Amino acid sequence: MSDHDALIAAARKARENAHAPFSNFKVGAGLRASSGKIYGGCNVENATYGLTICAERVAIFTAISEGERGFDAIAVVTDTDSLTPPCGACRQLIWEFCGDVPVVLANLQGKSEMICMRDLFPKPFDSSNL
Ligand SMILES: [Zn+2]
Repeated sequence: MSDHDALIAAARKARENAHAPFSNFKVGAGLRASSGKIYGGCNVENATYGLTICAERVAIFTAISEGERGFDAIAVVTDTDSLTPPCGACRQLIWEFCGDVPVVLANLQGKSEMICMRDLFPKPFDSSNL
């Protein structure tokens, strides 16, 4: 199993726990920490919609809360023909906590592609701007 396969598998597994009663759009994320441990995350929706949190951020916050610092890669899995990239808010968070990591997009049919954060988020605002 390649590095990306393990991340995709973690994202698929996390996706099964998605709480998406409003959109029915289930998303899973897999985040590999520099320690080698992989953290999963799923989207968690809320009746107010605005309080919904994406799978990528759940994975990042879970890992941070476990004491991890430094990440190597993240995968996002959805059940769509067209692969789903992270939303703008997640791009900001991925950049801030992970930097220029590979982002693996995949679907349940086995289609996948990899894109680097520097291409997905080319002119970021971060601590260097403060
Ligand atoms: Zn997002």
